[in-house]
Amino acid sequence: MKIKQITPETVEFIPDRIEEGVLYISDRYHTAVHKCCCGCGKEVVTPLSPAEWSVKRNSNRVSLWPSIGNWSYPCRSHYVIQDSRVIEAKAMTNRQIQRVKANDRADKAAQIRRTNHAKEVAAIVSKPNAQITPTHKWKPSMNWLQHLIRWWKSL
Ligand SMILES: [Zn+2]
Repeated sequence: MKIKQITPETVEFIPDRIEEGVLYISDRYHTAVHKCCCGCGKEVVTPLSPAEWSVKRNSNRVSLWPSIGNWSYPCRSHYVIQDSRVIEAKAMTNRQIQRVKANDRADKAAQIRRTNHAKEVAAIVSKPNAQITPTHKWKPSMNWLQHLIRWWKSL
């Protein structure tokens, strides 16, 4: 790793000129950008979301999790940013890369499902005439329970 230290910089928009050794974090766009720490100069964009990356800032130190795997770049570098230090991670084999990608897709699909569900709920709630009362929650009635008991006894 050519770059061993990285400092966080909070920005609204990702600047045109990205400096090496700086992790630009845009809370507004839920994105962080930095130049590949191997020194190849490629820009690495990491979306910040529960299914992607998360940043932890502590004054002028930063951690980014999970690891950065630049499989699609010629350098194929793999590292972790922890407490502003760039820690080289093990190089991955093609098979491992495929597995990581498959897991990523599954994670994303799960997040999209959760998001869509939240949207559906929000759509219902925002309808002015929607009747959202506790009675909408499924609650077995006495009648229903009696049926169940009768059925149970008949077995
Ligand atoms: Zn690189």
